[in-house]
Amino acid sequence: MTKTNVKGLTLGALEQFIVSIGEPKYRAGQIYQWLYKYRVSSFDEMTNLSVPLRQKLSESATIEQFTVATFQTSKTDGTVKFLYELSDGKKIETVLIPPRPTAVDAEERMTLCVSTQIGCALDCTFCATASMGFLRNLTVSEILNQFITAQASTVKPITNIVFMGMGEPMLNYENMMAAVEILTDQHGVGLSPKRITLSTAGYANYIRKMADEDRKIKLALSLHSMRNEVRTELMPITKKFDVEALISALEYYNKKTKKSVMLEYIVFTGVNDTDEDVRLLVKAARRLDCRVNLIPFHSIEFTHPKGYSASLHGASRAGLEQFWQKLRDQNVTTFIRHSAGVDIDAACGQLAVKTEKLEINHESTRH
Ligand code: SF4
Repeated sequence: MTKTNVKGLTLGALEQFIVSIGEPKYRAGQIYQWLYKYRVSSFDEMTNLSVPLRQKLSESATIEQFTVATFQTSKTDGTVKFLYELSDGKKIETVLIPPRPTAVDAEERMTLCVSTQIGCALDCTFCATASMGFLRNLTVSEILNQFITAQASTVKPITNIVFMGMGEPMLNYENMMAAVEILTDQHGVGLSPKRITLSTAGYANYIRKMADEDRKIKLALSLHSMRNEVRTELMPITKKFDVEALISALEYYNKKTKKSVMLEYIVFTGVNDTDEDVRLLVKAARRLDCRVNLIPFHSIEFTHPKGYSASLHGASRAGLEQFWQKLRDQNVTTFIRHSAGVDIDAACGQLAVKTEKLEINHESTRH
């Protein structure tokens, strides 16, 4: 008999499972708490369950765990990058980001950047993950285990989650939202939905779906250019949903949910930093309830040494500040994001790709 992995089951699904093995429904609530409040790794640790029930559960169910393949800690800012090995041997990344010491909420904030897929099919030219191609979606359990395993490594509670790791979250929508349900359930992990942000590369249809479903988590769009021809070079998904489709989906989202959105923008020198780019971005921002986050670029030369990607250079600090000032002069709410873990390849996909390359190199030296 195949055992059921109880981690990743929503409370309703866990109740169904518990009833299916002939136990009363309320037991599911107890198990759910053990899994997510106390984050135990075995049924034996669930001490308010009878010994025969614990034994029955061990025979019919499992609790999936993660193996940490490797991790790196930034010497400059304490960011920790985990590389987890999954049950099929594939690897994913998760990044734990402490606050800047000067941040107003430095005492309480701890952010986890979570992956939703192994690799990614969207092929954004500035992204290390893109060079892996798409391997598969993560299960609900694998999404949650990134949180559970990272939380075990720190005494400080993880307060914020950003779905900005490997993969496009909208393309694993059902699993990601089931994980969100458990993460925000007061009987589960109990995080505030306001502290969870999903970042999409541009699926206008899912932006509208989130609005229609009145999802409580926050939404960000990786915009990076308001010009279709430039954005198509940076993010080929633009051929499917162009800039106008995205901005009007965000307008719909603003109106329907009464929530603001975040526009993410990496400033590339000579690519998307002209006055015309500023003008178009200001025009879009005025249509929306939004803020613009300017993101420093982490070099990915080791994954994209040739072609268009190799020609991309992130703006200098002065260039970023100039762009920021131009937006501010037009009354656009805008911030420059603090760049975390630069010394440990903390941008999306960098460690996984680097490790994969190292493994390939080891393989090829072996043969
Ligand atoms: S930036 Fe995000 S959507 Fe684009 S290729 Fe990388 S992981 Fe995929």
